[in-house]
Amino acid sequence: MTVHDFNAQRLYVDDPLSAGAVVMCSQAQAHYLVTVLRLGAGDRVRVFNGRDGEWLCAVGKIAKRSCSLEVLHLTRSQEGGPDIGYCFAPLKRARLDYMVQKATELGVARLQPVLTERTVVGRVNGERMRANVIEAAEQCGILRLPMVAEPVKLAAFLAEYPSDRRLVMCDESAPIASPLTALGGLQNQCCDVLVGPEGGFLESERALLHDLDQVVALSLGPRIMRADTAAVAVLALVNSVIGDWR
Ligand code: SAH
Repeated sequence: MTVHDFNAQRLYVDDPLSAGAVVMCSQAQAHYLVTVLRLGAGDRVRVFNGRDGEWLCAVGKIAKRSCSLEVLHLTRSQEGGPDIGYCFAPLKRARLDYMVQKATELGVARLQPVLTERTVVGRVNGERMRANVIEAAEQCGILRLPMVAEPVKLAAFLAEYPSDRRLVMCDESAPIASPLTALGGLQNQCCDVLVGPEGGFLESERALLHDLDQVVALSLGPRIMRADTAAVAVLALVNSVIGDWR
């Protein structure tokens, strides 16, 4: 069991990481380390890039708007994670930020915005989603970052959906039945999850989904949840039955 040191400051960089490498922080990162955290040369920071694991680094040269990090040694090997994609109708800013961070903490491999008729947002800010992925990963010590896919319309998403995967659709109109039983049949299959928009799915969308052999409609009980609540509920269930919480 990995014991996580949550006292250590963690920083995401895009650079390759290996012993002896020197990484230049972004201006914002330099400000955070030097001005906010008041770190100085030689202080330690844990750095990860989503590919090479987590490395202990020492703050190197500090200039007015920059600082370097000297990569010392590996502290955690790169981890994988369950091949579960979180597909969702995008929500408005703060709720989308929350949902992206929770899905990242719950170990998803991909974040796939799906545009449905009642989706309330037109444009999805992929850079903002990516920033929320990084923030959640830095706070929770997550080494495998989910990739952020371009938004796709529901019909196109279903038309391209792979035949060898199962799509767990959270259907607020599905008959109430044990989600554990429904998911139990998917033990050794690659799965994605789909959560609808604030206004729920249209009947025509529900019919389109139910017509797809790969779709498993899942009830999350008798109460209608907000979409961001449903995200946490269904990803906890899926992780327990199919993911890496076993
Ligand atoms: N109007 C509320 C709830 C919308 S339902 C809001 O403001 O958010 C949003 C999505 O969450 C649904 O499309 C469904 O995918 C999921 N969901 C919510 N409650 C559910 C339930 N009891 N069972 C299955 N899915 C549910």
